[in-house]
Amino acid sequence: MPNNYEPVIGLEVHAQLLTKTKIFCGCSTEFGNEPNTNVCPICLGHPGVMPVLNKTAVEFAIKMGLATNCTINPKSVFARKNYFYPDLPKGYQISQYEEPICLNGKLKIKDDNKTEKIIGITRIHLEEDAGKLIHEQGNSSLLDANRCGIPLIEIVSQPDIRSAEEAYLYLTKLKQILQYLEICDGNMEEGSLRCDANVSVRKKGDKNFGTKTEIKNLNSFRNVERAINFEIQRQIEMISDGKQIVQETLLWDANKNEAISMRSKEEAHDYRYFPEPDLVPVFVDDEWKNNILNSLPELPDAKSSRFISKFNIPEYDALVLTSQKDVAEYFERVCDFTEDFKSASNWIMVDVLKILNEQKINITEFSVSPENLADLINLINDNTISNKIAKDVFKLMIDERKDPKTIVRQHNLSQITNEDELEKIINRILLKNENQVESYLNGKEKIFGFFIGQIMKETSGKANPQIVNELLRSKLDDYRKKKNQ
Ligand code: ADP
Ligand code: ZN
Ligand code: MG
Repeated sequence: MPNNYEPVIGLEVHAQLLTKTKIFCGCSTEFGNEPNTNVCPICLGHPGVMPVLNKTAVEFAIKMGLATNCTINPKSVFARKNYFYPDLPKGYQISQYEEPICLNGKLKIKDDNKTEKIIGITRIHLEEDAGKLIHEQGNSSLLDANRCGIPLIEIVSQPDIRSAEEAYLYLTKLKQILQYLEICDGNMEEGSLRCDANVSVRKKGDKNFGTKTEIKNLNSFRNVERAINFEIQRQIEMISDGKQIVQETLLWDANKNEAISMRSKEEAHDYRYFPEPDLVPVFVDDEWKNNILNSLPELPDAKSSRFISKFNIPEYDALVLTSQKDVAEYFERVCDFTEDFKSASNWIMVDVLKILNEQKINITEFSVSPENLADLINLINDNTISNKIAKDVFKLMIDERKDPKTIVRQHNLSQITNEDELEKIINRILLKNENQVESYLNGKEKIFGFFIGQIMKETSGKANPQIVNELLRSKLDDYRKKKNQ
């Protein structure tokens, strides 16, 4: 990117709320049911029906507002956003416009170099989702109205983001907080978290923003990054060629890796917003707000600071462990059963997360209990098994679903720490490899590792490495003394 240009980005994020019922009726929000079974006259927009606001949806929106340092509006108002599209039976969407429930928040992001930055949140408002169109082959489409009326919050950022990477970090943080609050599952691929990106570029040092475009249809974190980079590049090329950016909505095509024009400003909708006459304003008093505030769980930043001080682990570890709430909880449980917090962290960050990835499961479905992982770590620390054997024991724990002590006993994996036994093995190896001993004594120090390898092979990896090291060294010293006599 020519570095005399600066990108300006603002994100609009929709999050489906995990309420049991829809926002204005009692229909279930359960995912994956037969099309058009979670519906009623209200969410189908039959004439004459009255919406009733779901209190839990409001609480979830307030939670997100409090978690992102927003001001909670003591009074907010629903509005009708009018447009025609076949996935919207009513012909309007109930949303919030001039008086949203949350205002003026901020979110802290941190890049790989630990540089912090605050991204402003303009507003968070409540609205209802539309239905889902299923495009058949040929010219027909089917409508599944199960999604009509599922509660959403829309989180609108300030144009504070300056790169695709920052957009990624911001989105990751939003998702993490939504998941910590347990108000949205944050799955972009399944559409429970959706992101539209507004992008413009300007000459560095310019005070005014350039004309923006909005990119829709970004259904993964990767696509958000790619689409933003694509659009930044496109706009810079246009401007460098002396062309004007047209304010328009673009659709991201993930297969072609490009954004195509969907509609320009001239075709932009006039939604004719007006206050929803069938719903009273939402009033949030201090008592309600404070009750919600007191019910908030420990959030990612606080948890990671606490992990650093309480368990004395590096910041990097704390960030990885707290990236998912369930993983953080698993780590804390392991630390209930072992004093070796750093090993607990290493095992989870490397070995456990790898298995979760391979098996595509959540840590709550992981077959090794925190207590058993802690026991495994303790077996290493009390010298029952070596680090290397511990990796095998870990695999066996998963395969056989047994605790580490049982595995070690049944597979006879205890370390050999008996010095007499080890000495015999070392003598045998050295006698068998006279030439190597000779080279070692002549200064080829590296051959030490070869002997260790042979001893480990002979003992199937069970020899205690420290003891073997010491014994081998003193044996070779004996050889040297003899040679020099
Ligand atoms: P609109 O009126 O087109 O909906 P808004 O002012 O409501 O625009 O902003 C929508 C989103 O676009 C916000 O996330 C905001 O931060 C972002 N945005 C606004 N202006 C710009 C700009 N010039 N460049 C990039 N993003 C912008
Ligand atoms: Zn309904
Ligand atoms: Mg707007």
